[in-house]
Amino acid sequence: MKKILIVGAGFSGAVVANTLAKTGNYKIKIVDERNHIGGNCHTERDSLTNVMVHKYGPHIFHTSNEKVWNYVNSFGTFRPFVNRVKSIYQGQVYSMPINLHTINQFYAKSFGPEEARKWIESQGDTSISDPKTFEEQAKKFVGEKLYKAFFYGYTKKQWGTEPRNLPASILKRLPVRFNYDDNYYNDVYQGIPVEGYTAIIQKMIEHPNIEVRLGTHFLGENEDNTDYDHVFYTGPIDAYFSFRFGRLGYRTVYFKEYRSDGDFQGNAVINYADEDIPYTRIHEHKHFTPWENHPKTIYFEEYSKETESSDIPYYPKRLEGDLEILKRYESEVSKLERVTFLGRLATYRYLDMHHIIEEALEIAEKFLDHETHR
Ligand code: FAD
Ligand code: UDP
Repeated sequence: MKKILIVGAGFSGAVVANTLAKTGNYKIKIVDERNHIGGNCHTERDSLTNVMVHKYGPHIFHTSNEKVWNYVNSFGTFRPFVNRVKSIYQGQVYSMPINLHTINQFYAKSFGPEEARKWIESQGDTSISDPKTFEEQAKKFVGEKLYKAFFYGYTKKQWGTEPRNLPASILKRLPVRFNYDDNYYNDVYQGIPVEGYTAIIQKMIEHPNIEVRLGTHFLGENEDNTDYDHVFYTGPIDAYFSFRFGRLGYRTVYFKEYRSDGDFQGNAVINYADEDIPYTRIHEHKHFTPWENHPKTIYFEEYSKETESSDIPYYPKRLEGDLEILKRYESEVSKLERVTFLGRLATYRYLDMHHIIEEALEIAEKFLDHETHR
């Protein structure tokens, strides 16, 4: 039986482990430096409130890929969940992403869809033809006023820089709607696993041929891999090479935790758009499982900051300098024969869970295909 090492017990590592183990031809070891599986999607019940907490920030599963949806549902039950985010700006609560309600409330109007579309178009900066930056994208498509209210302060807090220094792609993640649909995502399938993400990932890696070693740090190129036929690496690409070309830029987030009786904010996620409120949002996790009943609550203020060497890298910044460094690491990766880099950190991309699962399935299937045709 061939021996495989997988570094990282997040969705990337678990999908590869699951796909390879099912063939019965591989003995797989998964290592993770943390003391739990699940990577950044890790969930656990809070011992004081019994609420299922998303330890590294709120995670809503959303995809339009039927194969991915059926795949995750084969490891546990998902219940429908629609993320309806609110945003507080200067003491008023608005609906986010920007939709007809947000527009009408902000401008104190009662526009219908077409009137609102025309109004927003009239607010847009027509001198911008091909928006490259976050600021240009916002000014062109929602206009200066909505940009300043809902995006400028939040984004400056989230990314620690002026939005004109950020790519337009960050804002393109959010829809603008001219109806009252306040669903944060456009995807066909959206839900939350009833027993949390860690239970789903646990199910994926439950196999007699899979061994998991937690609290185990993998040393990258300094690790002796000769025992294994192949390594799948899902840790940070720069760490693998001991940061030899420099560190890639990331933003990190940290949380301040609070508990109280009852219901704190009446919604899972509320964003804080004002620049002078230091946190970006508050998430109250019992609202992710509205089918459960909890007399007590736990909620988190989320703060964003630059990543230092001891912090968990969260959001890849992908500024020009980062992409130059990334190219140098990628060129080293292409020289490695028995190591595959995959996932959020090893490819230095912001990827949602469904992207991660889709890519990991493809990579594992390609690997198996290649093995059988050797
Ligand atoms: P990870 O989950 O980061 O797993 C990598 C694992 O590798 C970690 O457990 C780490 O400990 C381990 N590791 C790294 N280096 C080493 C080493 N050298 N030795 C041993 N172990 C190592 N996606 C959505 O679809 N919906 C959401 O609502 C959503 N919300 C998010 C909110 C936040 C705040 C963030 C940051 C991300 C969010 N995401 C969301 C994205 C989601 O978290 C990722 O898509 C997913 O976690 C990536 O899985 P992964 O396995 O590639 O990486
Ligand atoms: N954003 C904002 N105001 C909001 C929500 C989002 O300015 O109320 C910006 C912010 O820069 C964020 C980006 O839009 O990084 C994309 O939003 P998304 O919710 O996708 O962010 P993420 O899931 O990365 O936290």
